[in-house]
Amino acid sequence: MTALPEESFKNSKVDYVLTGGDYDFLLLNLANHLAKKEKLEAGIWYREQKNKTKYEIHNTGKFQLNHDLNKLPFINRELTKWQLYAYENGNYKRTPGTYLMSGRDCWWRKDGGCKFCAWTVLYPQYRVRKPEKVLDEIGELINKYQIKEIMDDTGTFPVGAWLREFCQGMIKRGYNKKIYFDCNMRFGVLNKEDYELMAKAGFRFLLYGLESANQETLDRLNKGTKITGIERELKIAKMANKKTKGHLEPHVTCMVGYHWETKQEATKTIEMTKNLFAKGLIQTLQATIVIPYPGTALFKECEKNHWLKTKNWNDYDMSKPIMITSMKDEKVRKLTQGLYKSFITPSFIIHKIISIRSFDDIKFFWRAGKAIFGHLADFKKK
Ligand code: SF4
Repeated sequence: MTALPEESFKNSKVDYVLTGGDYDFLLLNLANHLAKKEKLEAGIWYREQKNKTKYEIHNTGKFQLNHDLNKLPFINRELTKWQLYAYENGNYKRTPGTYLMSGRDCWWRKDGGCKFCAWTVLYPQYRVRKPEKVLDEIGELINKYQIKEIMDDTGTFPVGAWLREFCQGMIKRGYNKKIYFDCNMRFGVLNKEDYELMAKAGFRFLLYGLESANQETLDRLNKGTKITGIERELKIAKMANKKTKGHLEPHVTCMVGYHWETKQEATKTIEMTKNLFAKGLIQTLQATIVIPYPGTALFKECEKNHWLKTKNWNDYDMSKPIMITSMKDEKVRKLTQGLYKSFITPSFIIHKIISIRSFDDIKFFWRAGKAIFGHLADFKKK
């Protein structure tokens, strides 16, 4: 809808389309436009009905990312019924858990960021809230809702001085003793000191986009990471836990179904994750079939090279390959299942059983196990 507003008007009775950027600010502007005739901000498309059958489409130009994120109120958890999402999420080790966002959206933007990623299209600039604002929101979540784990869903969490100030704030306010903090991160940016500070500050789940074990694929995706440095970096995170008695638990996301990858290359990704699990360097993973979403550079490349199997958007639900590959769809689905099964090695299971320290750990393994079997069922032959 956001990437193809004209198509949205053609196929539905929608009156307005917000085409990206700061949706919350735009939605408020739209409400004020409807209620008080406030001028529509840039980024909104609308329909002007001429008669019963005829209409014209207008727009206010390209959306602007000029809103001050520090002026946003904290999310109203009651209105958003936070409890519905607080317990069944397989990623939470402790419940209740919830989400927040420190920034929009990813600071990796060299040559437009990762080619398959829609976030850099919606947020071409990276902006962050002040660390103290985020810490205040965490304080409210702890004190008002007794939240025990928080996932920050910024595309990539801020690093450098921002990260250090945030970690010191977590420690100073004692939040590191009350919650686990989770975030999305990129390989190749954190050093030993960063990992140690994050471990002390209560970080646990660190989600990295591994995407593929093949450097050629990473380069084609403009991922900007080096496959050779990943194991070394994960070892640094593991050592940081030992030194600080921390709980960092790296999680990787991988994809199969790239047009250019052979079965052998996709299998290499399974082998790599298996090896990382066996060494205790990653704790969980998420495997999906790569989808070239409209608006992304990957979609444009697919269109140009005629790699798309369909433009029926209902099929873009990650359950089947959209890009033409040298493999049958069933094989791609099997490879996705293979990624999920890759962690089932005897040493990993023994390591997990030994690591159980509390009832929270047992509940987590139960939820995570259910999620894994759910994912395996998702990619079964339909
Ligand atoms: S690192 Fe993640 S959020 Fe950033 S551009 Fe790549 S896929 Fe998108």
